[in-house]
Amino acid sequence: MTKEERRQYNHDYHLVHIDKAHQQSHEYREIHRDEINQRQRIYCQEHRDKIRQQNRIYYWEHPEQMQQYRLATKQRRHDYSVAHHNEHHVARRKRRALKANAPVSDLTALQWEERVTEFNGYCVYCLKSMNVITQDHMTPLTRSGSHTLSNVIPSCPSCNSKKNKKTLLEYLVYAFGGP
Ligand SMILES: [Zn+2]
Repeated sequence: MTKEERRQYNHDYHLVHIDKAHQQSHEYREIHRDEINQRQRIYCQEHRDKIRQQNRIYYWEHPEQMQQYRLATKQRRHDYSVAHHNEHHVARRKRRALKANAPVSDLTALQWEERVTEFNGYCVYCLKSMNVITQDHMTPLTRSGSHTLSNVIPSCPSCNSKKNKKTLLEYLVYAFGGP
């Protein structure tokens, strides 16, 4: 590898991994949203008086900044909700289309319920008891897997998002190391 090639390689590596890190931290926040909110709520409850007092002092001292801050926050919330509302709908439409176009698409609600019971409410991958249960397609829908009983197993959101577009075998190698 020449010096120039190595520089390019490092540059690409850096870009790919920054992207991955962002993606992972985004996923972490999505998956642990309740936990994070809960932690914040508890902190605010425990320090309510102190926070209020600090805010009050700040308001008095910075009336103009506060007004600007309020407007900016409102705008940011608005933008965020518009952007993510669409994202959410696009993702849901995509998932629905994938299921509809799968080679076989016949998983019933009852079959799914029995499947979850069969696994005792545990995630197939990490064997933890689940609060939120997601359907994992062993062969992903994006790779022509079917939405049918023999291809769908219960998984926690965290494992499901780590498995993502990998087949069952690819994920097991990824998670537990190759043979
Ligand atoms: Zn899991």
